[in-house]
Amino acid sequence: YTNSLDLQGPISSYGEDNLLQSSLTAKELVLDVLKKRATEVDVDHCGPGEEDAFYVADMGEVYRQHMRWKMNLGRIKPFYAVKCNPDPEVLRLMAQLGNGFDCASKSEIDLALQTGIDPSRIIYAQPCKTKSYLRFAAEVGVKQMTFDNADELYKIKATFPDAELYLRILTDDSTSLCRLSMKFGASMDMARPLLELAYQLELKVVGVSFHVGSGAEDPSAFLKAVTDARMVFDQAGEVGHELHTLDVGGGFCQDSFEKFAGILGEAVDTYFPPHIRVIAEPGRYYVATAYTLAANVIARRDIPDPTDPSRDAYMLYLNDGVYGNFSNIIFDHQHPIAQVLTCASEPGTPNSATSEKITYSIWGPTCDGIDVISEKIDLPGLLNTGDWLYFEEMGAYTKCSATRFNGFSDNHEVIYISSETGASALLNY
Ligand code: PLP
Repeated sequence: YTNSLDLQGPISSYGEDNLLQSSLTAKELVLDVLKKRATEVDVDHCGPGEEDAFYVADMGEVYRQHMRWKMNLGRIKPFYAVKCNPDPEVLRLMAQLGNGFDCASKSEIDLALQTGIDPSRIIYAQPCKTKSYLRFAAEVGVKQMTFDNADELYKIKATFPDAELYLRILTDDSTSLCRLSMKFGASMDMARPLLELAYQLELKVVGVSFHVGSGAEDPSAFLKAVTDARMVFDQAGEVGHELHTLDVGGGFCQDSFEKFAGILGEAVDTYFPPHIRVIAEPGRYYVATAYTLAANVIARRDIPDPTDPSRDAYMLYLNDGVYGNFSNIIFDHQHPIAQVLTCASEPGTPNSATSEKITYSIWGPTCDGIDVISEKIDLPGLLNTGDWLYFEEMGAYTKCSATRFNGFSDNHEVIYISSETGASALLNY
């Protein structure tokens, strides 16, 4: 297995035997690899950090999501939102699949370029850019970028007058998990003055972009945004710009994807003729379900109820928490669900994982009281120090927003596997 920062590193041999010829489902395969890796650790004798939390990343799952995208939104070219999970292996697969990249900073641009793609496959989708990053974008030839205010146009005129600009418009993101429109997006009233200013400054506006909010819940937000974008395309034509691309942003969730894709696909075809290129910036859609995290129980605190033992409380402390890979609880409003990976208690005994459920609260390793992963969860058996829990759907907005608070690692091991031959072939594993 390899660390995620090691771009050219050796790829996992974990589970390799199981991969192509086995009858395991993708989920069983992931579980198998998690268990093998977890049981290698002897918490009573290992070196510091050898029991650290780790991920298993199934690149086959990312590949399946790509195929699903192609089936449902074939006209719309994905520019993967690097911020969501900048793991070089994910970026490498995206490049192989022919996708573009949505980058928000100099280092995201660097990471995308390291895959060997042409800079034209990058959109610098941050409407308020750092000047020195803008100069860097000019140097490396990343021309496509978004804007939503006049100040940014003057900045671009001074720094990168050849840039290809997308006017980002405001959307109704009131039903989204992470709202973005209070921060970015020009109102419909502002669109025309901005297009006129860009024209006066002899800047090239080539498209319109929007984002309905990350983790969007209402597909009609896409319909409204597409019709607004149509109006802005028409205004831009009147002002003298020649627009050729619509960027429909991110916000796609795995659960509701087909419903969203149906409405978006139809809206795009209704309002934009085939010669208009359509791109998107999906992030969580691609990676959320591909990563599973295993964390070690480092301590258990028992709080007996002297009057009623059935109300005894158990607090579990893991070696990962909201300052680490569970940063998605704070920043992304997620509720990761713990499942038992290993439980050393003998099967069949009152303490075993097969016994009746016990109620726990689950905490992270830092000294902070907000570092709680789950306030109440029922798990089978009495878990002890050294046991492992695992959490599915940990691929989006997790590792990338982890900190080193209290001296804990922000760079946990990732074991890469592929449950799909298509992905294995592209990645050579
Ligand atoms: N594009 C932009 C400009 C964003 O700000 C984000 C997320 O914040 C995304 C794309 C990705 O969104 P998601 O992960 O919901 O698809």
